Amino acid sequence: MSGKSAPLTLGHEFAGEIEEIGEGVNGFVKGDRVAIEPIMYCGKCQSCRMGFYNQCGKMGFVGLNDNGGFADYVLVEPYMVHKLPDNVSFEEGALVEPTAVAMHAVRQSKLKVGDSAAVYGVGPIGLLTILAAKSAGASKVYAIDVSDERLQLAEKLGAIAINSLKQNATEIILAAGGVHVAYEAAGVQPTLTSAVSSVKQGGEVMIIAAFAQPAQINMFELMVKEANVTSILAYRHIFPEIIALIADGKLDVKQIITKKIALENIIEDGLELLVKDKSQAKILVQIG
Ligand SMILES: [Zn+2]
Repeated sequence: MSGKSAPLTLGHEFAGEIEEIGEGVNGFVKGDRVAIEPIMYCGKCQSCRMGFYNQCGKMGFVGLNDNGGFADYVLVEPYMVHKLPDNVSFEEGALVEPTAVAMHAVRQSKLKVGDSAAVYGVGPIGLLTILAAKSAGASKVYAIDVSDERLQLAEKLGAIAINSLKQNATEIILAAGGVHVAYEAAGVQPTLTSAVSSVKQGGEVMIIAAFAQPAQINMFELMVKEANVTSILAYRHIFPEIIALIADGKLDVKQIITKKIALENIIEDGLELLVKDKSQAKILVQIG
């Protein structure tokens, strides 16, 4: 949509202070503390006109399709800007974006207060999905992953950890009666298969991860329990609600920050470490 190509400044999860305001833009003053909703959309297509701007045919992200937040200054559209109350830090502000994905998934799912859930894959989005499901009233949340380090973080958030390399997640969950909703945040065939098997009668598998490959679902298995498979794409109309939940102390997103680094060390201490060290979830980059 931007027509821009590499090299671009990355960074699509960020917060900061307003330094300059474009002509004709109202509602903001210099110094306002804000979080950025990075979705770019056309505003004219059928999806946009229906309010589903996350499904815009020209959808893109600041920080992926246009210059993003790993810089001292970034230029964004007014519709992307959400004010932060004084008691919400920039760190928390930067976490609104990934939290939006998790919270949109939970809101679009049929999870109700007291229901059980499973989260397959506990990278940052999976961890935030645990938090979102718990804040929505989930009674118990299973966390399934292949990394003990990541599962330790999930346990800290109150999830029941299952390492699927050592244990059979489907068997454990079914022995306890199955779950109402399984959130698929891993995006591979084995986790999808287990997610479909682990939901109870009338349950739901909510797809959050972007699958790189087509995947198979046993439709008969789904059918005999009248279960559903649903999906989300990023998020829409949810930043203000998440900022309010954080401000009210109902969503402690800071728990998933495992490290803070300076921008000049982003390759070594950030990107390379994320690959090497499985105990890292969100590494926060401080700028300026
Ligand atoms: Zn559009």
